[in-house]
Amino acid sequence: MNSLSDGGDDRKIVTAILVAAGSGERLGAGEPKALVRVGGTTLLEFALRSVFDCERIGEVIVAAPPGKVTEVSRLCQQESDRYAERNQDCSPGALTILAGGATRSESVAVALKAVSDRAHHLLVHDVARPFVTVEVIDRVLDALDAGAAAVIPVRPVTDTIKRVEGDVVVATVDREELRAVQTPQGFQRDVLISAHASGESATDDASLVEMLGIAVTIVDGADEAFKITYPWDLAVAQAFVEHMKTEKN
Ligand code: C5P
Repeated sequence: MNSLSDGGDDRKIVTAILVAAGSGERLGAGEPKALVRVGGTTLLEFALRSVFDCERIGEVIVAAPPGKVTEVSRLCQQESDRYAERNQDCSPGALTILAGGATRSESVAVALKAVSDRAHHLLVHDVARPFVTVEVIDRVLDALDAGAAAVIPVRPVTDTIKRVEGDVVVATVDREELRAVQTPQGFQRDVLISAHASGESATDDASLVEMLGIAVTIVDGADEAFKITYPWDLAVAQAFVEHMKTEKN
């Protein structure tokens, strides 16, 4: 990760917004999802590692669950210190932790107010996708560098998808036309700010950009960027972490 601390430097940077303020009700772990642990490490720390490992990111803003800002700040600082220890020649960038909002869109809107003037590209990443790879982040940033207004990582849909009304199927949707959407989603700074100025709410940021009639570009996502929503996903995360440990040894 690049340093943001060079005094007087006006070079453009990439800012990553990590949305971590969800309650995690569907996970049923009794605490916010970002603070749920897999093999002793919180999902927040895993997500921070992925973001810190991308040297193109100069600033990280974390939207924390309201009431957990102190705990989230402590974990972020700890992870940042670990990064600095591992990478003596490269200091971690600026870190801001603030209280998120009542919805995901509100959490992003709050974080947007704290973005550095130097940021030209913005990433928004769900902490609920803690194992995203640097390769995915790089693909999103490469597309922004090439001039795309908004970029989303996607995967093919493998299930057959039906449209239903109540408990009756009304249509089968051609899955070749569909993509499952992941994060981080990337934006030219002004595009994301305009999209959020509408005050609309959506389950991702690209939807708000689409409402402005601006084209959204797709790049390949990765299986590792799977989303943790239900207890089953947490079991998969546990198996994934075990698998990664054996790969390393
Ligand atoms: O609820 P869901 O899992 O779809 O949330 C996606 C992401 O948005 C999660 O990382 C969650 O922490 C974040 N979120 C947020 N503020 C909210 C609701 C969700 O930052 N109020």
